[in-house]
Amino acid sequence: MYSVTDPATGVLIEEVANSTDEEVRESIGRVHSGYPGWRRRTVEERAAIVARAADLFEQRTDELAAIMTQEMGKRINEGRGEVGIVVDIFRYYAENGPALLADEPLDIKGGRAVITKGPIGALLGIMPWNFPCYQVARFVAPNLVLGNTILLKHASICPRSGRAIEEILRAAGVPDDVYVNTYASSRQIPAILADPRIVGVSLTGSEQAGVSVAAEAGKNLKKTVLELGGSDPLIVLDTADMDETVNSTATARMRNCGQSCNAPKRMIVLADIYDEYVDRLTKRVAEYYVPGDPADPETKLPPLASNAAADEVAGQVAKAVEQGATLRTGGRRVTPGAFLEATVLTDVTPEMDAYYEEIFGPVVIVFKAETEAEAIALANDTPFGLGASVWGTDDERSRRVAEQIEAGMVYLNRAGGSQADLPFGGIKRSGMGRELGPAGIEEFMNKKSIRL
Ligand code: NDP
Repeated sequence: MYSVTDPATGVLIEEVANSTDEEVRESIGRVHSGYPGWRRRTVEERAAIVARAADLFEQRTDELAAIMTQEMGKRINEGRGEVGIVVDIFRYYAENGPALLADEPLDIKGGRAVITKGPIGALLGIMPWNFPCYQVARFVAPNLVLGNTILLKHASICPRSGRAIEEILRAAGVPDDVYVNTYASSRQIPAILADPRIVGVSLTGSEQAGVSVAAEAGKNLKKTVLELGGSDPLIVLDTADMDETVNSTATARMRNCGQSCNAPKRMIVLADIYDEYVDRLTKRVAEYYVPGDPADPETKLPPLASNAAADEVAGQVAKAVEQGATLRTGGRRVTPGAFLEATVLTDVTPEMDAYYEEIFGPVVIVFKAETEAEAIALANDTPFGLGASVWGTDDERSRRVAEQIEAGMVYLNRAGGSQADLPFGGIKRSGMGRELGPAGIEEFMNKKSIRL
């Protein structure tokens, strides 16, 4: 069952029945039969439709933001910001698609060749609830421009976002056999991946879902992109302005109520500034991030996406404390609704679960490192490898540290962001493949070598 429950109140708003097996097969048939016609269109035609989609997303910003607030508790202003990035992504691929898909001539031994860049067929997208519009855009915009067709399964708490996105694409001119929204359940995914008419899958979600989808896709030899969890380190080497560093790093962690895969989740601070950082961060988190109504633009800390999510994060915090971590502030559930106080933990050690697991909520963990080398070792002591950031006044030193971090992305003096033209993705248990930027259009591409 797909359903919308307002996380701020716990009130059930809408239920949508799952697609039947027959409906799922019919949807697969549609995106399969739509593929030849879509790929035959010129890149310019497809790009023009994607550009129209960008305009329509922009026009419907407020409506989409309100849907996200109701479905998963996103602060209304963050929802508007998310749609802004969606518009950027659709425009980026509309504008750059033709150049990114241009033939690549190659001088080879004994002659010449050309690499042509074409689509591969009908794809399955499986998307999460934390950025209901942005996650879909990252997958859909480049693949529509490339010429692939798409069957999209959204998170089961986001049926309204799924429906609105389909409506917008349809209104922009994407045919109804080129993009299809399905209410499939995760139990139906293995059958979809076993169907020869689906040639690839992109999942954004948890590590567990990634393992399951990768196994099914592997069994069926389907190309896979996985954008999974993260426990990004944020290293503070030094600072010229402690308040600015504290406020910026706290903002990056608390964005989307801490439910971002690439939020900095482990602050690693060099010993000489550690005490001051922790004191000021604790004060900032306790005073500024007060739980409130996500529809009110003044609210700083919205609910988590569901009661289950809030209970899970509260449980992770309680367990850390039970295992010996120090709770500096927060940690308590605030009800009614899926609220959790903004939390700061210190003295987390490798013996505790919180050291290695991802905490997907408004919880900052701060570690002390005696040296730069220890900071790097701590940063890399994680099963994940999504993003990281390095903060400091000496760019050369920060760059040197950045190069030693095992992650798909490292930011200097900023954290947790994403933009249309910058590739996004991780290594280790954070997944495989890249989205956004030039790399994002290459994942489901047939780079065909033609020997002339
Ligand atoms: P889930 O993995 O539970 O859900 C993501 C999507 O996968 C949903 O559509 C869900 O469907 C589906 N799904 C769940 N289990 C399976 C399965 N066994 N087979 C196929 N599909 C499945 O993750 P959350 O929605 O809870 O998202 C939070 C997690 O995702 C966090 O760990 C976070 O770090 C990660 N994430 C990673 C991002 C990245 O870019 N790297 C971005 C955002 C989140 P249903 O809703 O029906 O269960």
